Amino acid sequence: GFKSRVSVIGSGSWGSVAAKLVAFNTLNLSSFHDEVKMWVFEETLQSGEKLTDAINRTNENIKYLPGIKLGKNVIADPDLDNAQEDVHFVYGHDVYIQLKMQTCWFLSPPHQFIDNICKSLVGKVRSDAEAISLIKGMEVKIEGPCLISTYISEQLGINCSVLMGANLANEIAEEKFSEATVGYRNNREIAEQWVQLFTTPYFMVTPVQDVEGVELCGTLKNVVAIAAGFVDGLDMGNNMKAAIIKFGLREMRDFCKLLFSSVKDDTFFESCGVADVITTCFGGRNRKVAEAFAKNGGKRSFDELEAEMLQGQKLQGVPTAREVYEVLRHWGLLELFPLFATVHEICSGCLPPSAIVIYSEKKPRLP
Ligand code: NAD
Ligand code: 13P
Repeated sequence: GFKSRVSVIGSGSWGSVAAKLVAFNTLNLSSFHDEVKMWVFEETLQSGEKLTDAINRTNENIKYLPGIKLGKNVIADPDLDNAQEDVHFVYGHDVYIQLKMQTCWFLSPPHQFIDNICKSLVGKVRSDAEAISLIKGMEVKIEGPCLISTYISEQLGINCSVLMGANLANEIAEEKFSEATVGYRNNREIAEQWVQLFTTPYFMVTPVQDVEGVELCGTLKNVVAIAAGFVDGLDMGNNMKAAIIKFGLREMRDFCKLLFSSVKDDTFFESCGVADVITTCFGGRNRKVAEAFAKNGGKRSFDELEAEMLQGQKLQGVPTAREVYEVLRHWGLLELFPLFATVHEICSGCLPPSAIVIYSEKKPRLP
């Protein structure tokens, strides 16, 4: 019978773990080809070997997820064309957000790189292909914010769901139990297919018909995690961190509802909501680097600390805080989101890390 192919675009720590999850399942699902192509943003390792060759030689992503076998049916490929060939299920991954981070704000015209990626995919992705985005971030256009899933959908003319959740990649890589949320628009059958493709005995996936709520939760919690890292760096204790989580969740909810009145309250109680906020505020990279930033009194930039501490992995919270700030400033609503606003003002050096404490005195509320 007819078999679909699954392709993974992006091969950072999370992309690699996700490829492992999906590849485990394609071996057992008769409706899918066994092989999972993983598109790699090619780079040369210190040894002189190409990352793609190293992944295919060792079956490990030795740079972004060392020590974890991905499954023999995961094939790394640096050519985006091959990753897309005749594929029915695609999940867009770090490539989009990372390109945006690296080019749009500081160096190049906005979205130049992502446009190029999408252009190179146009006409090559089947019109009946399904995409899922695991990217925690958003695009900011002049007319306002645009969800990455919407961007992918518009650019490629295909449906795009999302998968978000309390998903620290290194824990799932070691097969420690995690939950996740698939956000879908209206096709429950497709959502069930994604659930089937990702679910393993240690990875439990729940579908939720609220793509905007799910995606925005995953995006905004990174800003809250930066605030939690500041609190850790200032040694302010667990109660203060819990307060940050509470204020953060409230601003997440208010921001989501400002953008999409359809966002459901229940979504915040799924893995993509409160669970992801908690895990990232305690165990994530955003927290870790923000802690170091505060410990250094804001004297060393996030870029510098990120390069030193994460060795090529990327933070999402800092650019997202800036994007959220731009949106709120555009709407004249900054004072209603003091946590989000303060995080950006600290990250950009306008305020000292200690400013994270006084923001909470402002006690804002949306009507
Ligand atoms: P990562 O931070 O581990 O790795 C960075 C990735 O960026 C690498 O794959 C690298 O090849 C790629 N890259 C660097 N420069 C590039 C360029 N110019 N063009 C294209 N790609 C480039 O990546 P990640 O952790 O897999 O994060 C990707 C997304 O997944 C983010 O949105 C993140 O929020 C989300 N996510 C991550 C985790 C996690 O625990 N790591 C968990 C859930 C979701
Ligand atoms: P960090 O990027 O802060 O590590 O968070 C990863 C994540 O999204 C966990 O769900």
